[in-house]
Amino acid sequence: MSTAAVDIRPLGLTELVDKEVQSSMLVSAMVRGRLGGTLLFHGPDGSGKSSLALWLASALNCAKNGGQGAACGQCDSCRKVAALGHPDVFWSFPLPGSYYSAGVPDEGKLAQLYERKRARPARAIEFAEKAEHHLASVKMIRAEAGRSCYEGRRKVFVLTHADRLRQEAANALLKLLEEPRENVAIVLCTSRPSGLLPTILSRCQRLRLTRPSPATVAQLLTGRYAMGESAARRAAAVAEGNLSVALGLGEDGVLEAQREWVDKTLAALLERSDNLILALLDDRKGPFYNRGDFERYAGLLAAAMRDVLLVCVTGRPAGEGRIDAFAGQVADSRKLIKLVERTVNLGDSLNRNVNLRLLGWSLLNEAKEVLGEGAGK
Ligand SMILES: [Zn+2]
Repeated sequence: MSTAAVDIRPLGLTELVDKEVQSSMLVSAMVRGRLGGTLLFHGPDGSGKSSLALWLASALNCAKNGGQGAACGQCDSCRKVAALGHPDVFWSFPLPGSYYSAGVPDEGKLAQLYERKRARPARAIEFAEKAEHHLASVKMIRAEAGRSCYEGRRKVFVLTHADRLRQEAANALLKLLEEPRENVAIVLCTSRPSGLLPTILSRCQRLRLTRPSPATVAQLLTGRYAMGESAARRAAAVAEGNLSVALGLGEDGVLEAQREWVDKTLAALLERSDNLILALLDDRKGPFYNRGDFERYAGLLAAAMRDVLLVCVTGRPAGEGRIDAFAGQVADSRKLIKLVERTVNLGDSLNRNVNLRLLGWSLLNEAKEVLGEGAGK
């Protein structure tokens, strides 16, 4: 099938303490014969849902554990899962409509995506366009689920962003779940379980995941990804433990470029200049054209706003020009608290298909109100 045997190299799950707990729960469910055929892994972006799902796929097919314990990580089967090449492990993610021709996903485009995932397994795949699970993909999963295993014990289907199923795809998935098969495990991953049909939810065994602490992520960044220590600490803190986002920040120059954007934003706000704000929003190279960029920018903006609030509350300057200038001109501290909350919670609004520039515009206007009329114009 075209969502051919693809997976993510497990992200060194042993290095993530939280995941150890989750995987030992899964192992004990396996041993007691209590592991369901349909699982729901839910938790915030970057909490390692798909990598845990693939760890489970290894465990279910490991040649050394007899299907009863943790994956050995060494046998042929475990290696194939890790190399994204096990024929009984399938990975499916939402795609933009442009990836389909005549109702079928374009093999060439898919192959490119898988290649990207192999090269950077810990990074989320993002599209500028709206991406969904289409009926064609679920039909292929149903067809594949009806076949016997090629070489493993259990066929494992991992659906990432399972909340993004089109209506007809969700109905087809429900039918599949209504006919459970011994040799099939389906793992739905989502940060938004409320986006799934209640009839699907009621058939799932649930496991909730949390993000690793920024300190754990910083350790991973310096150890596994050879990032410098201070860059790693900063990236992990800004990403709030989201490894995928932290890795994006750590890429050459990205963090610096984003900081420059936040600095430009504060400057435009201090000027109370609609023209400068519009220029920020209209710059095609800026963060308002791409979800991933916006997410990072929002994280840094939130950090800057928290710093401003801290200066206002404690009266101690931060020693950073723009932050102190901003704090010095805050006219309405209640609005500032609201603004901090808004920037911190921006991730939630980003789950929906929002217009990033409109979101930016309303956010920056709120920031302007925090400052009141003041010295600028
Ligand atoms: Zn193994």
